[in-house]
Amino acid sequence: MWLVDEGVVVGVDIGGTKVLAGVVDGEGRVARTALRTTPGRRVATNLVEDAVVAAVLEAADGRSLVGVGVAAAGFVDAAGERVMFAPHLPWMGEPVRNLLADRLGCPVGLDNDANCAARAEARYGAAKDASSALVITMGTGIGGAVLLHGKVMRGANGMTGEFGHMRVVPEGVECECGRRGCWEQYSSGNALVRNARALMADQPSVLMEMSGGSPAHVTGPMVTSAAEKGDLVARQAFASVGDWLGVGTANLVAALDPEIVVVGGGVSAAGDRLLDPARAALRQAVVGAEHRKIPQIVAARLGPLAGMVGAALAARPPLN
Ligand SMILES: [Zn+2]
Repeated sequence: MWLVDEGVVVGVDIGGTKVLAGVVDGEGRVARTALRTTPGRRVATNLVEDAVVAAVLEAADGRSLVGVGVAAAGFVDAAGERVMFAPHLPWMGEPVRNLLADRLGCPVGLDNDANCAARAEARYGAAKDASSALVITMGTGIGGAVLLHGKVMRGANGMTGEFGHMRVVPEGVECECGRRGCWEQYSSGNALVRNARALMADQPSVLMEMSGGSPAHVTGPMVTSAAEKGDLVARQAFASVGDWLGVGTANLVAALDPEIVVVGGGVSAAGDRLLDPARAALRQAVVGAEHRKIPQIVAARLGPLAGMVGAALAARPPLN
């Protein structure tokens, strides 16, 4: 156990729906977790802080806190002090790191959730032995991180890795960011569901029954489960999302030339059903394919705990 005599290190992952805190040891093992519901976006910011503090204290279970790392689903400034904006949280430029450090009485580290997940994959997971890696997180949208020698590249604004908003289709599908043709409109959980709904209009699918006859009620996990059952609509939806995953990855490989590409996030639960078409599209689309070693695309290893485990690694500032 890490620092048994001194106390514990707790990682917290603040997502759009839940706050997950856990004691994480020096080997990345999670000892005890605590869960709270994310209070929402249109609430007083202190309610989110209350939820974080409550989850941390429950996870710590009376032991003293050596440090707390926080992974937030949103933009964190380059210094790791503030959450500048988060689509599902009320923070807008609040100095979250210091606010939480004051309330918890220990050092707090703060970073974006995708950066934290990448840190965990670099230390304990699929990117462990790679000198450079690209981590792509496919959830509702696409997030990600660039790892060099195990460190997360954060950028001048702390915004490195917003891959989902690279434009892949001029004047394409409208994106929540206000622009058009962003990559995540073609390759993400949202894109998967949109594909499935469109295909259901002309083809029979078990998704009709699973959604109670209403395509509007189709969810990402439903499409994953339908694909496992052999449903053609679900499989086509995955093939398209996987193909676009490879196309966007080819652009990133052209720019960054990583040793390995690690794909995590909820959609990656589909494994090779998502990754095989991505691998094929990457081979086709990457520049200099016949003259280079094309990076392997592999699934992330730490699953839904990656953000929390990586947050614990960010527990002591400065970041990295
Ligand atoms: Zn966008």
